[in-house]
Amino acid sequence: MDAQRTLRRQISCVGIGLHSGNKVNLTLKPAPADFGVRFRRTDLGHHEVPATVNNLAGIQLATGLANNEVSVETVEHLLAALVSVGIDNVIIELNSPEVPIMDGSAAPFIYLIHEAGVKRLSAARKYLKIVRPIAISRGDKRIALYPSDHFKVTYSISYDHPLLRHQSRTLRITEESFVDEIAPARTFTFLKDVEMMRQNGLALGGSLENAIVLGETGILNNALRFEDEFVRHKILDAVGDLALVGYPVIGHLVAHRAGHALHTEFAAKVLDEADAWRVIEAPFEPAVIPFGAKIKATAPGLAAT
Ligand SMILES: [Zn+2]
Repeated sequence: MDAQRTLRRQISCVGIGLHSGNKVNLTLKPAPADFGVRFRRTDLGHHEVPATVNNLAGIQLATGLANNEVSVETVEHLLAALVSVGIDNVIIELNSPEVPIMDGSAAPFIYLIHEAGVKRLSAARKYLKIVRPIAISRGDKRIALYPSDHFKVTYSISYDHPLLRHQSRTLRITEESFVDEIAPARTFTFLKDVEMMRQNGLALGGSLENAIVLGETGILNNALRFEDEFVRHKILDAVGDLALVGYPVIGHLVAHRAGHALHTEFAAKVLDEADAWRVIEAPFEPAVIPFGAKIKATAPGLAAT
């Protein structure tokens, strides 16, 4: 059985909020089966904000949630890490409205989850399996989900910037591929936008420590982690925003020039179109091989029996 999972023990870290620039304490705590992913504001009476599209709040430059006027912001990188590593149930305590930005990627959250360890719970995991296409387009921005046997993402971006024209990538998202190929990809911004954000009191915690900054003629950071780090980060954002449907998705997500506003509008549309998906339990049960059955050889030297 493909069981629901939580953390083996609680774990904490300290970082800063990207927009406020304030120090934030983050603690991830184990939770029981069918609890889901819920934020808890320890500075506001431990008020809970479940990570679902029902609690979507204003999307400015990152994805925000709110419940009874209690908000949590910049949730997407942490949600992407949790869903990709298969943590179905967790309490996320914050003493401030913003999830800390860490290094602008999901890699520090993966590190925390791995340090805490993973615990299997005695309940089957549920998946949202796409059975017919769902799509939204806004001008040249598009996002869609198609039926597939796996969770796959195809993302393409194009910008009018000498260092960032067109990038595209398709990846089947598994725990391993997410950890190796997507989690380390950092958020990025353009220097001209940084000045505008600062004037509006945003990105006060932003620095070259937590974002790739593209100037007119070069990247202000020393080096990229991947040649196509930009599109990989867009995949990270899309995985985190789609996690707001409340279940891991089985389907092929295809997005072109989308962003948080379109990702989250799409996540809400997915839940609305209830005839386009089914909730299924644990589809990846290990195959039971009947006694005496032929096993296909999978590698040279491995003899079929
Ligand atoms: Zn991001």
